[in-house]
Amino acid sequence: MTPKEFKTFLGVTESNIPEMRCRVTPSSFDPDDPELRAIPRSLNWRWTSCERFLRNVEARTVLLRLPLFWQIESFLHRACQAVGATILVNEVENMPVGAAAMHSANVNVVMTDTSDAGLFSTYLFEKDVEFPRAWFVVHRGDAENWTLPQFLRETQIRVAQEVHLFPGLPVLDQCVMLADSKETSFHLSDAYIWKIGAEKTTITSVGNDLLPFVKFPLSFVLRTTGMCPCGKIIVERSL
Ligand SMILES: [Zn+2]
Repeated sequence: MTPKEFKTFLGVTESNIPEMRCRVTPSSFDPDDPELRAIPRSLNWRWTSCERFLRNVEARTVLLRLPLFWQIESFLHRACQAVGATILVNEVENMPVGAAAMHSANVNVVMTDTSDAGLFSTYLFEKDVEFPRAWFVVHRGDAENWTLPQFLRETQIRVAQEVHLFPGLPVLDQCVMLADSKETSFHLSDAYIWKIGAEKTTITSVGNDLLPFVKFPLSFVLRTTGMCPCGKIIVERSL
């Protein structure tokens, strides 16, 4: 299945979405992408990697700064419900409100993407606002590299990183030990069968994807770097 074929399937499926009783997330990180389609997602899907991190850092209030068009709020809401946390949505452009919420809304977790994590953490540093103790950072699968912003790397803040193939669709995640290492190393999502070659990495859905990936080639290539004490293999990006 090529990415082009996947988009064709999405186009064909789109008219059936109203009857499918599902949620949808976008097929591109660019809201102006002329080929943007809706990916149907199961109502039963749980963002387990997020839930695990929120539980581990004892989340109270999560400041959501991922773009709203990612349609990720319902998934986050479910994860927050499971751990007894609340969500505060903060539009990316509105950093002063986000900064003020640290105290007024008792925020102790920030969820955002790589680029905003850099901008927002710099803003908080310059305004001398106390950093929330936990950050959940999503790297875009189509980015050229995945780099953790400086302020999050150097301080004693807890950070979990994961890579989304499309907005709200995690393919690489971290256990608590890997997250605490601050390395951009990951575990492979259990929702897929992985084939990691020297020049190509493909995934095939094994979970309850409504539109399954079949030998879908990723835009990045991985290599195995070792074994984690949690029992899973560790991978890094090689291309
Ligand atoms: Zn691990």
